Amino acid sequence: MNRKYYGKLIFELSHKGRKGYMLPKYGASDNNPLSNLPSEMLRSQKPELPEVDELTVVRHYTNMSNNNFGVDTGFYPLGSCTMKYNPKINEELASDSRLGKLHPYQPVNTVQGVLNIYHTLQSALSEIGGMAEFTLNPYAGAHGELTGLMIIRAYHQERNDTKRVKVIVPDSAHGTNPASAAVAGLSIVEVKSRPDGTVDVDDLRPLLDDTVAAVMMTNPNTLGIFEKNIPEIASLVHDCGALLYYDGANLNPLVGVARPGDMGFDVMHINLHKTFSTPHGGGGPGSGPVGVRKGLEHLLPNPRVVKLADGSFDVEYKNNTSGQVTGTLGNFAVIV
Ligand SMILES: *Cc1c(COP(=O)(O)O)cnc(C)c1O
Repeated sequence: MNRKYYGKLIFELSHKGRKGYMLPKYGASDNNPLSNLPSEMLRSQKPELPEVDELTVVRHYTNMSNNNFGVDTGFYPLGSCTMKYNPKINEELASDSRLGKLHPYQPVNTVQGVLNIYHTLQSALSEIGGMAEFTLNPYAGAHGELTGLMIIRAYHQERNDTKRVKVIVPDSAHGTNPASAAVAGLSIVEVKSRPDGTVDVDDLRPLLDDTVAAVMMTNPNTLGIFEKNIPEIASLVHDCGALLYYDGANLNPLVGVARPGDMGFDVMHINLHKTFSTPHGGGGPGSGPVGVRKGLEHLLPNPRVVKLADGSFDVEYKNNTSGQVTGTLGNFAVIV
């Protein structure tokens, strides 16, 4: 690729007296919002800002963006999370002004269309995941893991099965798996992989007892290998009374082909920003919807978007859930 390297900082491009934009001038009148700032809050010296014309600013940032590597300029080789191409029309939809200027606490009768989007996506993800119900509240995959583990913990507590304090994760797992387990107040046990990269079922078997709350699996796993033994692992996990968690960061190759729910997973998250849309990376905006199998729906966090008998939509807060993990209903632009 013929890329010129522009190494100059914007400060090095600065020339005294150059301007790209003039701020409106305020006189010393009552209309000047700056005139009544306390004097001890004011600068004694002008800030050291680069002085550049508009074209220099445009070229500087355009050159910087060309020096950046991303999926628009080449194959994105991030191994753990499978990356998709983001169709540009999705950006346009997400920035539609009719969707961007809503308030999360607006009366529900004024946001029926928005709640319809939520409900439609919840239902679509339930179908894709083979789960009974989804929440779109969590802000990222890691947040989804935490939410899922809170649901699993609530499930065991509801059954007075309070000995279950361990989460088993494969040695190939993404770092967020043990981190989420720790944040959820659970301890972590590692299970080994075989030379072929899949989880070693013989190593897993003796670890499963009545102190295990959950086993977390990623499929295909972080090494990119499809875990063929999930049905066997699922029955071992369920026989010991634990639940099986699906880390959906790599759902991309399974979508429309196979469903975690059908493989025996009880709780899962999907990283919308990995499998579906929005650019991912650098900790940018994400969404980590969480799905649960039948029998766990009541433990999904508040608030919930529900469809009423008359076809309208409502936002529900219920007792006895696993709690609340977000202020409102998650990262709406990513959901769009
Ligand atoms: C990316 C990733 C996560 C964490 O998801 P975030 O949305 O980045 O929080 C978890 N597990 C795996 C396997 C991942 O690749």
